[in-house]
Amino acid sequence: MRLNVDGLEVLFPYDYIYPEQFSYMMELKKALDAKGHCMLEMPSGTGKTVSLLSLIIAYLNVYPHHISKLVYCSRTLPEMEKVLAELANLMEYYEKQEGQRQKLVGLILSSRKNLCIHPTVSKEKEGKIVDGRCQSLTASYVRARHQRDKSVQVCEYYENFDLNGREFPLPPGIYNLNALKNYGQEKGWCPYFTARFAISHASIVVYSYHYLLDPKIAEIVSKELVKSSVVVFDEAHNIDNVCIDSMSVKINRRILDKCSNNIQVLEKTIDNVKESDTNKLKEEYYRLVEGLKDASVRRETDLVLANPVLPDEILQEAVPGNIRQAQHFVAFLKKVVEYIKMRLRVQHVVQESPAGFLKDIHGKICIDRKPLRFCAERLASLIKTLELADLSDFTPLVMITHFATLVSTYTKGFTIIIEPFDEKSPTVSNPILHFSCLDSSLAIKPVFNRFQSVVITSGTLSPLDMYPKILDFQPKLMTSFTMTLARQCILPMIVSKGNDQVAMSSKYETREDIAVIRNYGNLLVEMAAIVPDGMLLKYKLLFIETQDAAETSLALFNYIKACENGRGAVLLSVARGKVSEGVDFDHHLGRAVLMFGIPYVYTQSRILKARLEYLRDNFQIKENDFLTFDAMRHAAQCVGRALRGKTDYGIMIFADKRFSRSDKRNKLPKWIQEHLRDSFCNLSVEEAVQVSKKWLKHMAQPFTREDQLGISLLTLEQLQNEDMQKKIFQRAQQA
Ligand code: SF4
Repeated sequence: MRLNVDGLEVLFPYDYIYPEQFSYMMELKKALDAKGHCMLEMPSGTGKTVSLLSLIIAYLNVYPHHISKLVYCSRTLPEMEKVLAELANLMEYYEKQEGQRQKLVGLILSSRKNLCIHPTVSKEKEGKIVDGRCQSLTASYVRARHQRDKSVQVCEYYENFDLNGREFPLPPGIYNLNALKNYGQEKGWCPYFTARFAISHASIVVYSYHYLLDPKIAEIVSKELVKSSVVVFDEAHNIDNVCIDSMSVKINRRILDKCSNNIQVLEKTIDNVKESDTNKLKEEYYRLVEGLKDASVRRETDLVLANPVLPDEILQEAVPGNIRQAQHFVAFLKKVVEYIKMRLRVQHVVQESPAGFLKDIHGKICIDRKPLRFCAERLASLIKTLELADLSDFTPLVMITHFATLVSTYTKGFTIIIEPFDEKSPTVSNPILHFSCLDSSLAIKPVFNRFQSVVITSGTLSPLDMYPKILDFQPKLMTSFTMTLARQCILPMIVSKGNDQVAMSSKYETREDIAVIRNYGNLLVEMAAIVPDGMLLKYKLLFIETQDAAETSLALFNYIKACENGRGAVLLSVARGKVSEGVDFDHHLGRAVLMFGIPYVYTQSRILKARLEYLRDNFQIKENDFLTFDAMRHAAQCVGRALRGKTDYGIMIFADKRFSRSDKRNKLPKWIQEHLRDSFCNLSVEEAVQVSKKWLKHMAQPFTREDQLGISLLTLEQLQNEDMQKKIFQRAQQA
């Protein structure tokens, strides 16, 4: 259908539309018009992706000078492939409507592991090994050696791409992983490098968060993206944690031992090079005297995403004299590694600021801040000069140099915690140095500064006002959409007590109480007895998520099988785990989610304590507010698993009396809150079972599209109806 969204003609590839999809497009358009950032919360299963794509593509067509590219970031590969499928569908619709294909390129960019077509490299199972083997075939010095000596192996797909691929941009079309691989096979070009090269001229790029948020990767992959791009972060409820992880480093003894091996290899190679080609090292030396100015010129052109790891001023300076010579630098690294090894010899926990660390390293081994700052770039230069083949072997040393650069660059927003053992096994000595980023805004700031519109969207972003604080940005617009429903297909309830009236709560003091445990058990048994796709628990199968990924996927596979064949099953999983956030349980695969307790993060963690302190001092966020926000976003994610669309239905039980307090309840997404009646906020197990029984019977009645039409699903005619437009407008106002 052709929609008129606030004066913009939008082609929408379906015959029916949800009212909230239309509202979503209206709000999104407002943000694009204002050239600002926005946050949009809309329940999953209500067609967020297609609304987003339809509007932005219409906008791209009509105002090409205003926005020129869509960068769509998602978390997992299946999610990214889904976006590409929606996009392909939309393009087909355009072709049908307009009689000609759109002349735009939309593509996915993924890792080499997912795109490689080299006959042997592509067989490797681990991503890091694929990267390393690819680098050993494509590094500039390997290729130069191949010119002199044909027995040195290179990748013919890369060579072909390098020879021809850069002159022929990808033909218009939508490229998912398979399409890219097929195109690569057909042309004899490497799909990975073809895709990486194509992102500068493609209109739509779909890739993982890390390509923009991890400074180490963003610098290589995303530097050419233009300012007039719209960046979308989908499923963004955990975006602050992604930012933090991308800037944090964890070092243990094993890594340090591997570093020592890396250093030995470097030493040996330097000796060899000295004997065979001294000029190489000299040339490098002179290059380093010049500093990293070349790179800084590139930065000034405003085409490059600023790298928060290396601030601009560092690039103006010459590389310090004491690490310019290759052997001096290696000796320097040796000292740093030995120093960290020494620091790991602790009996109890040590916490210090980056400034404290720098003071200590200076006092103990006379190392200054400045050469530390250049460590990462200096190592990259040395690896290139020495023409080392397999870079994946050097990951530990690269990690240490990143740490050195970060610790000497940032004085604020980071902390160092050295623990003598892992929190999970406190009796085994296993010292770890955590260099933890405390400020999620550091990694995302270049993205907000660089692009004119950044859209943060997810099914669960509530409470919305927390994100602008922790990410330190000012959205032009924040909206939480509710779900229009023809029948109430979610049943949220708070179960606060057992049949014996003992309060249910997972809080520390009552966690071990036998009556509380019994009541949680009762709730599970009684609900399992009435939720369909199974009968009594004794006939139902029980599966458990464990820390082992393979074991968990097997459990999941069999759980699905048990639901498919009607036997029914119970899956016990952990909040914040893989199952609770990354797996959808459509229809009969998930009819009820029981949330046992409030999923607070482990509050004794020192890293968390440091982050809470930082948030309090710098962003005026109270500790409890952040902890509750974090717990509630995970609770919403968990219960949201049961509802994946409007024809789906599911029970959401929050089993902890603390959920009924307004500071918790009010933090749930609007689309859940709306259905959480006051009378369902203090139920006993028995009451919850009775309510569920009745509701399930009602929901099991046939439900067709006709029942939804005009209420939660609209034809174009119904959408254009004046009353409906008014309703949508009113709802948008309320949102
Ligand atoms: S260049 Fe491409 S095809 Fe060749 S090894 Fe690397 S990823 Fe594989």
